[in-house]
Amino acid sequence: MRSNNRLVVVSNRVPPSEAISPERSRDMPVGGLVSAVKVAMQQKGGLWFGWSGGSTQRRSSDQPEVKDLGGVKLATIDLSEDEVSLFYTGYANRTLWPLLHFLPSRVIIRRDLYRAYRRINRKFAEALCALLEPGDIVWVHDFHLFHLGQELRRLGWEGKLGFFLHVPFPSADIFSILPWAGDTLKSLLSYDLVGVQTERYLRNLIDSLDTELDGTYTDGVFTAEGLSAKFGVYEIGIEPSIFQQAPDDRVRSPMEKLSISTAPDHKIILGVDRLDYTKGIPQRLRALERLLELHSAFRGRVTYVQISSPSRTRVPEYIQEKEQVDRLVGHINGRFSEAGWVPIRYLYRSFPQHELAELYRDADVGMVTPLRDGMNLVAKEFVAAQRDDPGVLVLSRFSGAASSLVDAVIVNPYDIDGTAEAMYRALRMGLSERKRRCSAMMDAVNKHTATSWSEAFTRDLSET
Ligand code: UDP
Repeated sequence: MRSNNRLVVVSNRVPPSEAISPERSRDMPVGGLVSAVKVAMQQKGGLWFGWSGGSTQRRSSDQPEVKDLGGVKLATIDLSEDEVSLFYTGYANRTLWPLLHFLPSRVIIRRDLYRAYRRINRKFAEALCALLEPGDIVWVHDFHLFHLGQELRRLGWEGKLGFFLHVPFPSADIFSILPWAGDTLKSLLSYDLVGVQTERYLRNLIDSLDTELDGTYTDGVFTAEGLSAKFGVYEIGIEPSIFQQAPDDRVRSPMEKLSISTAPDHKIILGVDRLDYTKGIPQRLRALERLLELHSAFRGRVTYVQISSPSRTRVPEYIQEKEQVDRLVGHINGRFSEAGWVPIRYLYRSFPQHELAELYRDADVGMVTPLRDGMNLVAKEFVAAQRDDPGVLVLSRFSGAASSLVDAVIVNPYDIDGTAEAMYRALRMGLSERKRRCSAMMDAVNKHTATSWSEAFTRDLSET
C-alpha cells in the first residue's frame, strides 16, 4: 500500500484508546478481532471507526467523536439503548452469530431485528462518509456490518472497499434459513475484496452465492446483477513475540498467585475462552469428568484451570450458558474434590495477555475445543508461548485453526469419550513427541501472523 493511502478500519466495536497505545496494550484484555486489527493499526496508523460501546436513553447522535492518538485516530458513535437491543443483542448476537456458527436451532428470526440492523449499517455509513478522504482504503470487519459497503456505495463512495469475515461461514443449506440470505449475499458484492479465514468457509460462501443469486464465479471473482467482488482466504494470526516475552521475575506468576503447583509431578490443563456457547466449555468439562472417572490415578495429580472471560452478559443464551457452566463446575468439584485438591479452578474474569502467556507456558495441556470457531487465536497464542518443555495443544477439528495447526491433538468436541481419551494421551505424551508437534505448529504460527494477514489483505485490496 502506498503511504499516502490511509487505512480506515471499521468494526462494530472500537477498543478503548488504552488498548491501542503500545505502552498500555500489555494490560488490556481484548477479543480476537481487536487483538489482530490493533497490530495493523499500530504498524500502519490510520482511522478506526465504530461503536463506542456506550448507549444513551435518548435518540443517539449521528456525529462521531474523534480522538487523535498520534498515528491512529479513533472515531466512535454512540447507539441508543433501543438500537443496542435490536441491532447488537438481537440481530448480531441472536440471529447472525448462531447462524454463522452452524447452530440453526438457536437462530431467532424477527423482521424488526433485521430492519434495525439495516438502519444501523446505514447510520454507520453516514457517520463514516463524512470522515473519508479520497485515496482512503476502507476495510470493514465482521458480520455486524455486512451491508455497510452497500450503504457507502449508495452514498457515493467510489474508493477501495474491503470486507473480512472473522467468523465461520456455514453451508448453503444453513445460511438459506435466513429470510434475507439473498440480500445479505448481494450486499457483499459492493465490496472490491471479501476475505474469509479458511478454504472451507470460502467454499461454503461461494456455494451460498451460487444458490441465492444468479451469478458466475471465475478466477476468484463472483459476478451477479451487475456487481462483482473478488473472494479470497486470509488466515488471521497473532504476533508471536507478544507471547514469548520473558516474564517479570519480580512478580509472582499467575499460577503461583492462584496457588496451583507447577511441580513436574502435578499436571495442569488449561482452557481460555470467552464464555460463549460456541466454545464447547460444557462438553470439555464433561470430558474432564470422564477422564477422572476412567483414570483415577490422575485424581489429586491434575488441575484443570478454566478462564472464562465474561461476554454478551445480557443475551439470554449467554446467561443460560453461564448457569450451565457454573452447575457443571460445582458438580465435578463436588464429586471428585479431596482434602487438599479441587479438580477445577474456575475463573470468571479476563486476564491481560502477558499473564495469559505465562499461564499458557505453565500448562501441560491447552484445551481449545470450540464447537465451531472462525479461527481461534488462543490456540495460536498457546503454541507461541511454549518453550523447551512444551505443553500439548488439544484442538477442535471445527476451529479454523485446525486447518493449519495440523500437529495438534485433533478432537471432535461433541465426542466426550474421544476428547477424554485425547486429554489422557496429551497428559502422558513424551518430550520428543511434544517437541516435534510444537515445533511444526510454531512454524505455522510464524507463517500466518497478524502482520502478514493485514498486509496480504490490504495489498490485494489495493490491487483489485
Ligand atoms: N483474551 C484476553 N484475555 C482473556 C481471554 C482472552 O486478552 O482473559 C484474548 C486472547 O488473548 C485472544 C482473544 O482474547 O487474543 C480471543 O480470541 P479468539 O480468536 O480465541 O476468540 P474470540 O473471543 O475472538 O471468539
